[in-house]
Amino acid sequence: MVLSDKINTFGQHLLKRHRKRVHKIALDVGFTCPNRDGSKGYGGCTFCNNVSFSPDADSNLDLHGQMAKAKIAISKRTGAKRFLAYFQAYTNTYADVTLLENLYREALLQPDIIGISVGTRPDCVPIEVLELLDTLQNEGWEVWLELGLQSAFDETLVRVNRGHGFSEYKETLLAARARGIPVCTHLIIGLPGEGEEQCHTTLDKVLELGVDGLKLHPLHVVKNTLLAYQWKRGEYSPLSMDDYIRISADMIERTPEHIIFHRVTATAASDVLLAPDWCSKKWKVLNGIERELRRRGTRQGCRT
Ligand code: SF4
Repeated sequence: MVLSDKINTFGQHLLKRHRKRVHKIALDVGFTCPNRDGSKGYGGCTFCNNVSFSPDADSNLDLHGQMAKAKIAISKRTGAKRFLAYFQAYTNTYADVTLLENLYREALLQPDIIGISVGTRPDCVPIEVLELLDTLQNEGWEVWLELGLQSAFDETLVRVNRGHGFSEYKETLLAARARGIPVCTHLIIGLPGEGEEQCHTTLDKVLELGVDGLKLHPLHVVKNTLLAYQWKRGEYSPLSMDDYIRISADMIERTPEHIIFHRVTATAASDVLLAPDWCSKKWKVLNGIERELRRRGTRQGCRT
């Protein structure tokens, strides 16, 4: 049994749509974030160290170099022949739209690329960016907008210094989906001050508004973050792996089958990860979620 027998995975979705295995290439093209440079806030989210979010991207190389290097490594490892350029590090809509268009098109011009996925904050997606994504989609490219929401609770978002609230997410999500741009929403399980009840309420609110894809992440504590200091002072305790598996399995069961899971866990590189140590073992967590769903005799969408 594999996870895709239980969950509508992004890999399976892309395989069906493009009739070839497609793999994402994580890119770091030198953006910053309005929550770091002062336009929204300073210091960034309390858990953010972008090195841990895009460990595969080699920011010393230009876009072409990063893609060429990643394609060789990924094809060797997975046999993938088609790729999706994933603008992952920092806020990938935080620039003039002409610059964004040049970057997105440069990625699309590389051989074997089927589209782009753009990761960003909900408060940083002006109409011109949505129009650009819409244009690219109408040209036949696979296009995804990935919105980091993390929690639907404004008090949690303040606690982790996100610098935006649920209302900005709602506004951007509705504007994107009104244009037919698919949205993948990122949610974090284990945020400070939250338990499983808040995770379920966040999921309810996201599902109620409508969404095309979801990413679930455990909150991990990485070096050089405020969360690391809070953890060292005993002010934050990460989830156990068993709790993460149980809560994510519950959320998967409650998610309608047509919604695509782009990810149900995340890892951090061992040189920056402080806690919990199970966050360095992606396959252990993925196997644990699959085993838990099998043990329950359930799957995605069985409790909607
Ligand atoms: S919005 Fe994203 S890039 Fe910006 S500080 Fe938060 S996690 Fe980091």
